[in-house]
Amino acid sequence: MSIQAGATVGAVQAALPLDPLENRILLCHALGLTRVGLITQSHRALTSDEAATLDALVARRLAGEPIAYIVGKREFYGLDFHVTDAVLIPRPDTELLVELALERLAPGASVLDMGTGSGAIAVAIAHTRPDARVTALDASTGALDVARANAAANAANVAFLHSDWYGALAGVMFGMIVSNPPYIASGDTHLSEGDLRFEPVSALTDHADGLSALRTIIAGAGPHLAPGGWLLLEHGYDQADQVRALLTAHGYDQVQSWRDLAGIERVSGGTLG
Ligand code: GLN
Repeated sequence: MSIQAGATVGAVQAALPLDPLENRILLCHALGLTRVGLITQSHRALTSDEAATLDALVARRLAGEPIAYIVGKREFYGLDFHVTDAVLIPRPDTELLVELALERLAPGASVLDMGTGSGAIAVAIAHTRPDARVTALDASTGALDVARANAAANAANVAFLHSDWYGALAGVMFGMIVSNPPYIASGDTHLSEGDLRFEPVSALTDHADGLSALRTIIAGAGPHLAPGGWLLLEHGYDQADQVRALLTAHGYDQVQSWRDLAGIERVSGGTLG
């Protein structure tokens, strides 16, 4: 589409082709305005630079690029997170994992976030509980750069570590381990739909049956989890039975699953020792 310079902000907003929320987000981003600014300036005319900028943003969205990557940010747990295509876009479902972790975190306890991506989980925990000693790891250095920026921007004290799962953690123990690992099976049609087409494939799928990262985390936690410590894992909508079975087979106690806002068993966990 072509957005006309000289049209008013309000007229342009009404004519944009996306849904009303996305129209507003892209218009605010193109004009550098807040939501309130958009209202107070609704009668002024767009400059030609602004029209061209907005046109380019709308074209990217119409080509399917996720809105979070276009504007470079997404809200999670009430905090703003910088996102690039090096990281998965934080999902509201994952707030359940944060809440379960916060409910179980003893004062001053240590917690490890495995495969932190944007840092959403680790930063939300550290921001809410400054007493917690939060460590976050990822195998992707690009993701760690984004996560570090998010910790700094949200005044969250998180120690970051470049590690392939437990690879760099020999001899290190935590009071709790949490993870939202890649859990989509290779070949799942969701990988070629919507936002997922633009997200890092290594954050979404294990290139296998969808359970291999979950298996690795469950099987390897023993030497890294203090006695009685919780392991909490986000997983796919149809994986709760299998994840509970893996936890039970590896000797975890208190094995259970919790439902997300959509009523889907989204997080499972248990304690060790
Ligand atoms: N929740 C994401 C989705 O299904 C997947 C995230 C993941 O694999 N950890 O869109």
